[in-house]
This record gives sequence, structure tokens and C-alpha cells, in this order.
Amino acid sequence: MSASHVERRPPVADEGYSHILPQGFNSLWSSETRVVEQFHMNQPIPPYLFAFAVGELGTEEMIMQGEKLFGNYPWERFDLLVLPPSFPYGGMENLRMVFLTPTVIKGDATGAQVVAHELAHSWTGNLITNRNNEHFWLNEGFTTYAERRIVKAVLGEDKAEGVDPDAIYSEIPYEKGFQFLWRIERQIGRPTFDAFILDYIDEFKFQSIDTKTFLDFLKFKVPGIEEDIDLVLWTEGTDEVADWKGQEWELYLENLPRVLEPSLVLALDERYRLADSKDYEVKVAFLQLAILSKCKKKIYGEVDKTLKEVGRMKYLRPLYTALVQGDGKEEERSLAKRVFSEARECYHPIARGVVESILAKQ
Ligand SMILES: [Zn+2]
Repeated sequence: MSASHVERRPPVADEGYSHILPQGFNSLWSSETRVVEQFHMNQPIPPYLFAFAVGELGTEEMIMQGEKLFGNYPWERFDLLVLPPSFPYGGMENLRMVFLTPTVIKGDATGAQVVAHELAHSWTGNLITNRNNEHFWLNEGFTTYAERRIVKAVLGEDKAEGVDPDAIYSEIPYEKGFQFLWRIERQIGRPTFDAFILDYIDEFKFQSIDTKTFLDFLKFKVPGIEEDIDLVLWTEGTDEVADWKGQEWELYLENLPRVLEPSLVLALDERYRLADSKDYEVKVAFLQLAILSKCKKKIYGEVDKTLKEVGRMKYLRPLYTALVQGDGKEEERSLAKRVFSEARECYHPIARGVVESILAKQ
């Protein structure tokens, strides 16, 4: 606002505000039905430099939801700083001042999700911290759980899907940590679990803890929980790979480099039979990895079979693309062409068009 407009904003210094309103208008300024916010500034300033913004920023409601879940916000201020595009993460939960990538400002639910996530770290991560990265899930699993609760409470049930904003290496501590806590919640019911969370925060605030400390506290607060939930299986190492379900394999495959030594890929298949998986998400992700890693003839049979038994573009697209993309792929390209010529009649015309355009691009 330029100084010349300042008289339009009541009240200004040395002037009552009643007589500056046009006739017929009632000022709601400080009227009894309004909430009065008071701000104090130590330095005297000219009135035209005073400003405020009102709108549905959403952050305050998120803080309220966070406080419902975890207890009082412990750090007095919560500021968000949007960084230049080179900032490498979705967000970073610095105390009192969260950093955000400018890419979250999209006006949709994913931005809210990142803010909710970083806010939730104010308690889980910043108030109670994992002792070291071995216990990373205590930070991220709890925070992912809280993020989803907060987003659901603020935006409604259907908008809480999505990504892990500060995931660096693997999404597993986020997702599996979330699943573990959700499993406990389902076992003991939300009201009991909510009370447990408040006790947990209160017990360990301003401390760094490890998984054992969490489990001991859980068993103390919820006697007999270990008979209903296999706590060791949920929290220990990678021994449970054999029990991984589709989603865990998907996450695992997704986080591998795009290309590996063929011998590693084949050893993985030898042991876990991923190419034979009945879950197409896993099967296709694995075959894609195997093709790109040049496992060659060892997997052609399974690729051939798969491309003939599914017509879903979600699966056809990555497999055909992996076959024709890149240098030194003559063998794979002729496989792709042969399989397509044999399978094309079974594909939907739209899928056929998609595959044709993939094959044409090579
Ligand atoms: Zn996080």
C-alpha cells in the first residue's frame, strides 16, 4: 500500500475511525463478535507499513490437528521458507523454520501433505529423535502416520495419498513404519492408540531413543501386545524379506538402480522367483529391471509370456519400452517386434496404438 492510501484503513494514528467510514457501513473492527488478535512490535513504524494477510492458509488448522494428536506445539514459532528450485528435497523439518521446495506450491493436496509432514516432525523427529539412522523409522514412520492423520482431518478422507516429501534413500522406513503403527492402531483401537501416542511423546520428549525403547514402552503400556502383533518381525532387519508382500517388493525394486549386474538380477530371481510373481506390479517391475540389466535370453521366455497374457497398458508400456530403448538392443528389439506381431490381435486398439508408437520410436 502506498502512503497515499493509508487513510482508507482504520484506525490510523491520531484519528478515530468512526467518522471515516462511508455512510451506511458498520465497521466490524474489534466488534464484540470478532476474535481480536493482538500483535506487539517493539519499534515504532509509520502506519502505511503495517500489513496483514487473511486467507485460508491451512497451516494453523494443521497445527491444531498436530496438537490434538501429539500435545502442545513445543517450539513457539512455526515458519515456512520456500527455497529456490535447486533445493533438493520436498521439505526439511528445521526447528521453527521448515524449508520447502517451490514445487510444492501447486494449490493441490500434495503441498498440504508436505507441510503436514514437516510440521509433524516438530514432535516426531525433533522432539523425540531416533538415536541413529538404524532407528530412522521412529522419525519417519511416526511422521508419515501423523501426516496422513493431519491431512485427512484438514482436507478430508480422500486426499491423503502420495509421496514421502523428504525421502532420501528408501521409502521403506516411511511406509513400513506407517504400516506398523497403523497395525497397532487397528489392534488396540484409535482412542487407545491416541492416548498411547500422547504418553509416548510426554515420556520421551527432548530425548533420542531407539526401537527397543519404543517397544519396551509399547509393551508396558499395552500389556500382551506382543501376542497379537509379531513385533520382532515388524521391526528387525531384513530377515523377513521372504514374507514381503507385493507392495514391499515394489518399493524395493523401485529403489534399486535402473540397471544392475545381470548376475545380481538373476540371483535375486533365483531366490525369490520375482519373474513368476502372481502380482503383476512386482513381476513387471522385475522384468523391466532384468531387460535393462541385459539378462538377455535368461528372461526372454518370461517376457514373451507376460506380454501375451496381459493387455493392460500400465504393464505393456514399460516392458516394450525397456526392450526397444537404448544401444545394442537388436536382439531385444526383434523380440519386441515378434511378440507384438503375435499378440497384437489380443490387444485393445488403444493399447495396440501405444505399442506401435513405442516400436516406431526406436
Ligand atoms: Zn520426514
